[in-house]
Amino acid sequence: MNKDIIIIGGGLAGLSVAYLLEKNNIYPTILEARDRLGGRIHTVRPDKNIRIEMGATWLGKQHQSQIHMIRELGLEMEEQHLGDKAFYEYISTSPAQLVQLPPNEDPTWRIKGGSDRLIEALQEKLTDTKIYTGQVVKKINNGEKVEIQTASKSYLADVAISTLPPKLLTDRIEFAPALSGKLLQIAGQTHTWMGESIKVGLFYEEPFWMKPDSSGTIMSNVGPVNEMYDHSDPEQKSFALKGFLDGAYHSVGREGRKKVVLDQLRKYYGEKTDDYTLYQETVWQHESYTYSEYQKPVVPHQNNGNEIFAQSYWNGKLLLAGAETSPISPGYMDGAVESAKRVVGQV
Ligand SMILES: Cc1cc2nc3c(=O)[nH]c(=O)nc-3n(C[C@H](O)[C@H](O)[C@H](O)COP(=O)(O)OP(=O)(O)OC[C@H]3O[C@@H](n4cnc5c(N)ncnc54)[C@H](O)[C@@H]3O)c2cc1C
Repeated sequence: MNKDIIIIGGGLAGLSVAYLLEKNNIYPTILEARDRLGGRIHTVRPDKNIRIEMGATWLGKQHQSQIHMIRELGLEMEEQHLGDKAFYEYISTSPAQLVQLPPNEDPTWRIKGGSDRLIEALQEKLTDTKIYTGQVVKKINNGEKVEIQTASKSYLADVAISTLPPKLLTDRIEFAPALSGKLLQIAGQTHTWMGESIKVGLFYEEPFWMKPDSSGTIMSNVGPVNEMYDHSDPEQKSFALKGFLDGAYHSVGREGRKKVVLDQLRKYYGEKTDDYTLYQETVWQHESYTYSEYQKPVVPHQNNGNEIFAQSYWNGKLLLAGAETSPISPGYMDGAVESAKRVVGQV
């Protein structure tokens, strides 16, 4: 039977659902709010020789569904360079120390060529899936068919599949009739993984941290940058450091954030810090198609993978996917792929 299926969200989960549906000869439509695909996979390419991951970057050997998909799509992985030393700041009253790192027996991996290669490769595989960007879904009505309304259009489907983080879905999309109180309550208290994070990156002409008495790996209890890593590309065409700035700095403005990042890096690298060629940042709390403010505080991964997300709604006409709905690798890229596998089974 041919079913009209509409997928809301063109991130990794949305594209994975479409890819798996096409394997079953079902050709869905994807409605994506942003003017780009990928969602929280966000590889920024300021020019053709340089790229930086402002969203998802790393995976490990436990992320089996994602690894399987990467291989099936003909992509490769490369190990994250950590080096054998790291700058470690334990306490604000003592200077940072360069400490020896133990051998890395459980390496983390990056997708060769950039995380967005996974998004592009999925898109390239799709043959008859229709993809519409710039379509912000605002309302979903249950009737004989499901009606999905954006600001300018209305779409009818036999099944609507949301891939939005549950908190965003229930805060931003109106449902008629309303969803069950229990689902609304749990979704409203479901943490959107990395939604509060700020990623910062600095490009340099020379990788001055790749020396025996230095390191591109920074671990700091003092902050405000609490982790930083070498982000040079393996082809050695560009050299960069990239890390996480404390989310509280979302309110201080770009110049304020850049200043505190540079102030901290000067402690390890001295004046060379200021020779950066480009400063890049993404404040995920400002991304309205990812983050929605919590009414009550939540802990990381709270309610991720809750079984309520695996249920079907409106007699199977409304299904929920997305990284936060998966009990396996919840919140991670692998969780997004897992959720796609589950929801395609439900279809
Ligand atoms: C800074 C950061 C670092 C991360 N690092 C890692 C990492 O190293 N490893 C890892 O495994 N994971 C990491 N993650 C998590 C990873 O990015 C996610 O698990 C994964 O990308 C989620 O994919 P998804 O498709 O489920 O959700 P999303 O990528 O959030 O996709 C949802 C899509 O829905 C769209 N959308 C939103 N509202 C609407 C609407 N109303 N109408 C239509 N479309 C809408 C969005 O634009 C988006 O494209 C990181 C995330 C961030 C933000």
